[in-house]
Amino acid sequence: MTSTELTAEHTGGTSAALALDGISKTYGTNMAVRDITADVPAGKVSVIVGPSGCGKSTLLRIISGLDTPTEGAVTFNGERVTGVPDGLAMVFQDYSRSLFPWMHVDKNIGFPLGKLPAAQRRERVQEAIDAVGLSGKEKLYPWQMSGGMQQRVAIARALASHPSLLLMDEPYASVDAQTRADLEDLLLQIQAKLGITVLVVTHDIDESVYLADHIIVLSKPPSVVAETIEVDLPRPRDQVTTKEDPRFTSIRAHVTKLLRRTEAA
Ligand code: ADP
Ligand code: MG
Repeated sequence: MTSTELTAEHTGGTSAALALDGISKTYGTNMAVRDITADVPAGKVSVIVGPSGCGKSTLLRIISGLDTPTEGAVTFNGERVTGVPDGLAMVFQDYSRSLFPWMHVDKNIGFPLGKLPAAQRRERVQEAIDAVGLSGKEKLYPWQMSGGMQQRVAIARALASHPSLLLMDEPYASVDAQTRADLEDLLLQIQAKLGITVLVVTHDIDESVYLADHIIVLSKPPSVVAETIEVDLPRPRDQVTTKEDPRFTSIRAHVTKLLRRTEAA
């Protein structure tokens, strides 16, 4: 292993952990989320799952310091979040809007690293490209690539900053099923290798169980935490064997029931 390779050690490893303490958010008279208290364990994959409009994106914006809660506080690495914290990176659903169409893949990935010396920036970009399997695509423009490849670029850009916390807002909602499965597996591989804390938001129940160590189920708005679930399915996970595991189907059924119940309430 060379010193430039991405490893748990130099990405901060298990030091990141996030705590949501009584988060409420009101837009005008519309209460998007209500009194959300939840922990995101360090070095694991946590998933927030809930119906659309239940405040998942709102929560991620608050966690990332881009928006402020009406009540409550977020703590990241023991410090209260008041602006975008160091060590946090975010991947959005809409890769076509998060990438610059006039920049090659390598420039897109290196863009947020503008303050680093050129040599170090090149190193970071190369290791991120390798991590997501985009070698040889450095000089393509995003619009010359499929949606799944563009989302890899967005993931590489997030990784290049060596985050200790990776937030992803419905990252695979706009790609086809096969690409989604590939990107899910890519995320799990990268997470296992780097040991970073990952928090994914999705409305897809299968995806939540497949990815997660820890699931936070949100109810319909004004959303509360319906339940948190520990997923003890073995890793590495596999799209076929994991999904056939009786524990997978039983957790999936449980989450489905929770979401039905909260939607009917
Ligand atoms: P999700 O990501 O789960 O689909 P959102 O967080 O996008 O849900 O939205 C939750 C609720 O908050 C919705 O009712 C939405 O209309 C409202 N909302 C989200 N962002 C804003 C905003 N900037 N201004 C006003 N209302 C908003
Ligand atoms: Mg959303």
